[in-house]
Amino acid sequence: MNNDMVLVGARIVDPVSGYFGPADIFVANGKIARVDKRKKKSSHKGALNLKGLYLCPGFIDMHVHLREPGREDEETIVSGSWAAAAGGFTAVACMPNTDPALDSAEAIKYVTERARLAAGKVYPVGAITVGRKGETLAPMLEMAEIGAVAFSDDGSGLQNSHLMRRALEYLKSSDMTIISHCEYNDICAGGVMNESFTSTVLGLRGIPPIAEELMVARDIMLAEYTGGRVHIAHVSTAASVELIRRAKRARVKVTAEVTPHHFTLTDDLIKSFDTNLKVNPPLRTRKDVEALKKGLQNGAIDCIASDHAPHAIEEKEAEFDSAPFGMIGLETTVGLVVTELIKKRILSWPEAVAAMTVKPARILKISGGTFEIGAPADFTVIDPSLEWVVSKDEFKSLSKNSPFVGRKLTGKAVMTIVNGKIVHSLI
Ligand SMILES: [Zn+2]
Ligand SMILES: [Zn+2]
Repeated sequence: MNNDMVLVGARIVDPVSGYFGPADIFVANGKIARVDKRKKKSSHKGALNLKGLYLCPGFIDMHVHLREPGREDEETIVSGSWAAAAGGFTAVACMPNTDPALDSAEAIKYVTERARLAAGKVYPVGAITVGRKGETLAPMLEMAEIGAVAFSDDGSGLQNSHLMRRALEYLKSSDMTIISHCEYNDICAGGVMNESFTSTVLGLRGIPPIAEELMVARDIMLAEYTGGRVHIAHVSTAASVELIRRAKRARVKVTAEVTPHHFTLTDDLIKSFDTNLKVNPPLRTRKDVEALKKGLQNGAIDCIASDHAPHAIEEKEAEFDSAPFGMIGLETTVGLVVTELIKKRILSWPEAVAAMTVKPARILKISGGTFEIGAPADFTVIDPSLEWVVSKDEFKSLSKNSPFVGRKLTGKAVMTIVNGKIVHSLI
């Protein structure tokens, strides 16, 4: 194996120890062989000089949609992995709302086989119920044996509380997590944006915050009752954050994630009728955005995940009411985290990096997220002060549906390394 490399000159951001300072890293056979915290300037022959840059464990996005099988025109496992690499992610977990859904061992096997051609690591999330229909449990443990790392009916909430209870019980022995898309259909049917003053003014049907919060509360109670593990996907409201914070204090096995669009954008922007702003859960109010940031600070929210949701241009060019929900996010997440959270002093570098490395790794029980000796040499190198403008033409994703196009951001992944191999470089 010739995946040997020496990385010098960078400041490393270690999310486990909190160390944020100079170090040289030695890679052998695609694994971390040595980490030298330097006191003085070092020189190594053939070393890669990363002066002025920050070197982090490879970023993990635990919530993406890769659209394969079914909509390979919008994204594939391979194209999504290159978009991930360009955005600084060495690993992604892909959701099962494909067509057909990832609800069997064969379907999981298909993803793991396609993933061999990917730029980085792709971990499939299996469906909780057959066809994501919410009627019968899918063979979750069989899927786990093939490589499913968690289970979710993401794209819709699991309405049936009995099945949610059974799923949590079923997974208890393996200590795996259910990723819950929290949304009660009966209370938000037909809604296209947050139910608020803006939705009334615009005459658009609203999705009330309570549609999410009721299910967050239910899933917390079921996790407590069964002793199972639940991860709340894309938390979007202030009351959800508070429910999760209290549940954690009571030692319920609950974790949570937030997306960059939910901690950056508010529902009043929908005045523009830009369908790229139509997401599920919807963009909420300023008060919710502030609560999400607080949640990241106080630990109620563990992770940052993109909920990368590619859609074809012609679909998003529809009326706001009929356009599909979702925006892409793999290539804008790092810039938004640096610009909105780190520069504004919401999170420190080690805190922000933890939310995209060691925390998702622990929730999914996958390797990565640390600088441990013997760990895979997966790294994300960030230029913390690089200013750039989000451009459609530069997206590696097959889809372009981002409301951040044209936005000026600070901070970008300038190199992505997977198993000691450079898969993306702007240096
Ligand atoms: Zn979802
Ligand atoms: Zn999703």
